[in-house]
Amino acid sequence: MMVDSVDSKECCLCGNCKLVCPTQAITFSKKENNFFYPNIDFEKCIECNKCEKVCPVLKPVEQQDLLKSYAIKNKEVDELKKSSSGGVFVALAQSVLAENGIVYGAAFCEDFKVRHVAIHCEKELYRLQGSKYVQSKLGDVFEEIKQYLRQGRTVLFSGSPCQSAGLRAYLGKEKVDGVLYIVDFICHGILSENLFQEYIKYLENRRKSKVISFCFRDKTYGWVDSGPKIEYENGKNDHWPLYEDLYMQGYFQGLCMRESCYTCAFKNYCSGSDLTMGDFWGAEQLMPDFYDKNGVSLLCIQTRRGEELFNKAKEKFIIQEETIEVLAKYNQGLFYPFNKGSKNVFFNELAQKEGYMKALEETCKLSRMEKIKRFYRRLKRKLYI
Ligand SMILES: Cc1cc2nc3c(=O)[nH]c(=O)nc-3n(C[C@H](O)[C@H](O)[C@H](O)COP(=O)(O)OP(=O)(O)OC[C@H]3O[C@@H](n4cnc5c(N)ncnc54)[C@H](O)[C@@H]3O)c2cc1C
Ligand code: SF4
Ligand code: SF4
Ligand code: SF4
Repeated sequence: MMVDSVDSKECCLCGNCKLVCPTQAITFSKKENNFFYPNIDFEKCIECNKCEKVCPVLKPVEQQDLLKSYAIKNKEVDELKKSSSGGVFVALAQSVLAENGIVYGAAFCEDFKVRHVAIHCEKELYRLQGSKYVQSKLGDVFEEIKQYLRQGRTVLFSGSPCQSAGLRAYLGKEKVDGVLYIVDFICHGILSENLFQEYIKYLENRRKSKVISFCFRDKTYGWVDSGPKIEYENGKNDHWPLYEDLYMQGYFQGLCMRESCYTCAFKNYCSGSDLTMGDFWGAEQLMPDFYDKNGVSLLCIQTRRGEELFNKAKEKFIIQEETIEVLAKYNQGLFYPFNKGSKNVFFNELAQKEGYMKALEETCKLSRMEKIKRFYRRLKRKLYI
C-alpha cells in the first residue's frame, strides 16, 4: 500500500510521504479549493512503501487517556495580551528555551505566508504567539527535529493535531537521546494560503494601500471581542471583532476548509500530543471568579511527559483543576469535527465563477436581525474603553 490509497478527503498535508520518498516520486500540487495534495509519479516509484509507514492517516496514533484538565492563564498580563487565549504556549516555550531547547511553531513569514519555524531565543518567541487561521507549511522541520533529538537536544513542537500526529508518525519508534514535547490545540479547521492571500489583496484594494501588519486576535477590546487588527502602509488601520471579519465568518461557517477537517481523525485525544490547549469559552459564566477579560485557556494533559513540561512552567500560571465536561462545554471541537454545512455547495459554485471574495461576501450576507445584533455588539464594544 502506498499513499495513493489515502483519499484526498483525508490527507492533511503533513508532507511526510514526500520527505521520505527515496526517488522523489511524490510532489504536491493544488487541487480542491487550492489546497495542496500529493501526487505519485508511478514511473519513478519503486514500491518501497516508505511513504505508507509515515502517513498519519494510514498509521493512526492510538487514542490517549486524559490525565488532568485545568482552567489556566498566564500571570503576566503582557504575555496574555500577546497570545490568542490564556498565554499557555508562551510559558511552556520559555521553559524549554531556558534549558537550551528549541521551539517550533507557526509564524508569519514573507508576504503573510505561514510557515513552521525554529526559535532558539526568547526575544524571537513573539513570532509564534497568536493563532494564524491559515494552513502552516511544515517544509522539512520534522527532519530537523529528528536530527536535534538524535543530538540529545530538547525540542518543543507546537502545531495542529494533524501536524502532531504527522510528527509522531515521522519519528516512528526510533530511540533518541533528546526529549520531545508536543503541544497542540483544539482545532476548528484550516483555510488555504490562497484564500488568505486573496483576502490580503481584497483589503489592500479597499484601502488602496499595502497591508504591513496583520494580527488575527488583537485584544485591545478584550479576549471575547478579540479580532483582526490590520495596519496599512498609508498609516490607516482596520480593527474589528472576529465575528465581523469576512474571512473569519467564512471560517466559522466552515466554508472552504481543507476536506480533511470535516472528518478530522485527530480529535478526541487522537493526535499523539502531550498537551492540548484551547480557548476556555464560556469561562465568564462557568467560572466567573477565574475569568479574565484578557483571556483564559483550558489545558488537557495526556501524558507523563506533558505533565513534566507543565510542572516546569507551572509557576508562570494561575490554574484551577476542573473536569473537561465543564471546560469544553462550549468547545466541542475538542471531540468532533465541524459539520460541512449546506452553504458550502453554494459557496463553492460561486467561488468557481466569481472568485473567493465575492463568494464569501454573498454567502456571509447578514439578515436584518443579524444586522441589529451587530449594531448592539458594536455599541457594547465602544463602551469597553
Ligand atoms: C487554525 C486554528 C484553529 C483553532 N481552533 C480552535 C478552536 O476551535 N477552539 C479552541 O478552543 N481553540 C482553537 N485554536 C487555539 C487557540 O486559538 C489558541 O491558539 C490556543 O488556545 C493557545 O492559546 P495561547 O494563548 O496559549 O497561545 P497562542 O500564543 O495563541 O498560541 C500560538 C500557538 O499556536 C500555534 N499556531 C498558530 N497558528 C498556527 C497554524 N496556522 N498552524 C499551526 N500552529 C499554529 C503557534 O505555533 C503557537 O504555538 C485554534 C488555533 C488555530 C491556529
Ligand atoms: S512507495 Fe516508495 S518510491 Fe513509491 S512513492 Fe512511496 S516512498 Fe516513493
Ligand atoms: S497525510 Fe501526509 S503522509 Fe499521508 S498522504 Fe497526506 S501528506 Fe502524505
Ligand atoms: S481540523 Fe483536523 S485535519 Fe483540519 S487542520 Fe485541524 S487537526 Fe488538521
